[in-house]
Amino acid sequence: MSLKLSGWRLHALAAVAVMMTANVALATDSTMDADMATLARIREAAMSSNFAYDRLEELTDRIGPRLSGSPGAAAAVNLVADDMRAIGMQVKLQPAKVPHWVRGAEAAELVDYAHRPDGLTQRVMLTTLGGSGATPAAGITAPVVIVHNFDELNQKAAQIKGAIVLYDAPFDQSLADNGQSGTAYMESGMFRFAGPVMAAKLGAAAALVRSVGGANYRLPHTGMTSWRGTDLRIPAAAVTAEDAMLMSRLAAQGPIKMHLTLTPQTLPDVDSYNVLADLPGSDKADEVVLVSGHLDSWDLAQGATDDGAGLTAAMGVAEVFKKLGLKPRRTVRVVAWMNEENGQRGAKAYQDSVNDKISTQFAAIESDGGAGKPLGFMSSVALSDEKLLEPLRAAMRPIDAPVIKREERLGSGDLSELEDAGVPSFEPMVDMRSYFSYHHTAADTLDKVEPDNLKRQVALLAMLTWYLAEMQEPLQRLPHQTETR
Ligand SMILES: [Zn+2]
Repeated sequence: MSLKLSGWRLHALAAVAVMMTANVALATDSTMDADMATLARIREAAMSSNFAYDRLEELTDRIGPRLSGSPGAAAAVNLVADDMRAIGMQVKLQPAKVPHWVRGAEAAELVDYAHRPDGLTQRVMLTTLGGSGATPAAGITAPVVIVHNFDELNQKAAQIKGAIVLYDAPFDQSLADNGQSGTAYMESGMFRFAGPVMAAKLGAAAALVRSVGGANYRLPHTGMTSWRGTDLRIPAAAVTAEDAMLMSRLAAQGPIKMHLTLTPQTLPDVDSYNVLADLPGSDKADEVVLVSGHLDSWDLAQGATDDGAGLTAAMGVAEVFKKLGLKPRRTVRVVAWMNEENGQRGAKAYQDSVNDKISTQFAAIESDGGAGKPLGFMSSVALSDEKLLEPLRAAMRPIDAPVIKREERLGSGDLSELEDAGVPSFEPMVDMRSYFSYHHTAADTLDKVEPDNLKRQVALLAMLTWYLAEMQEPLQRLPHQTETR
């Protein structure tokens, strides 16, 4: 999922202004893009179909974890391709070389701390971060230095060399509870992403981060860490919130020492694929409306909410159109992305394939925010194009998802390069209050997905996809940030 901040006050005001002008437009405009009756049929077909949930059950219960390079990822490519062929979509596998990182042994115990009874050690629950370096098989023993932010890391620079650094930065669940889960994720997630390399630059022996997520239950949350193009791959792991708090309490009473064993391996890259499933358009077949989710998942669980739900919701769009016999003006392309979690090589392969014909990519949708109840969708259309989407709101109201929110840039995982090249991008806006409770943990399993919410998401994506595929007016294209990439 992506990281972003939003100026909601501005959006709210803009939305009111758009609503006022749109009511006038609705009353006078007889050349509506997609007719309301078709949108209603799409919505009803989605709400009465179990297709997406059935696909999700196959993906999670038959295959399970799908980290790129793994047998699960390869099996998922075939499953999704077969499922899309079975409903009559034109399927293509798009090659991408993907990283192949595998988890090894992972264990930690506190072997010394103030007032430790003789002979006692304490086990620390953790999970290796994607891309982590390895300790020797026998592990390492080193003092633990706890910091809460990067300033404190730099202040303690003299203690870092040879030590195990722990970033104890709590996930702010109250932000998530109030609809700001992306901000909460960004605030503590930056230590997972950038903390290990910063510690490595100061000579740390290993780096630990407090898990990025709420609802603790002593579960560690994995995820990618970035070495920023350096070769400083030290061992790096996420400890549970409870173990981070324990270490902070013990450290307040005196030095603590940890024995740490992490033996992941980075194996040679593997041949893999995005799955592209097309429903060809009619008079504008050369233009593509892409609707997508990512096929890979972290290795600790089934990846039901990240991103099995998003992927199968996108697949559900194809099933609805096929079932209703709809023929869109533009080509509708369902994409199952490979390697979103730890490299985005699938997104890169797609980008490379359309770079010299980017104007054919009319719009792109990705669902990668979980399976919570949908509230509407976000987009990065031009400010002056917001009104073109307004008629959709009435079609979204019956599933209680009438929000249309615009941002300058969505930065969705697999779409960011398309977006930066000027392709208007969209993502469903869903209730994410509990998303980060399970995100990248062993508890991201099928039971976390409420079937009715998945149906609502299919309905939302299908109406949005259809609307975009039928639009009379082209959307403006706003290339941005390409010079900084
Ligand atoms: Zn994801």
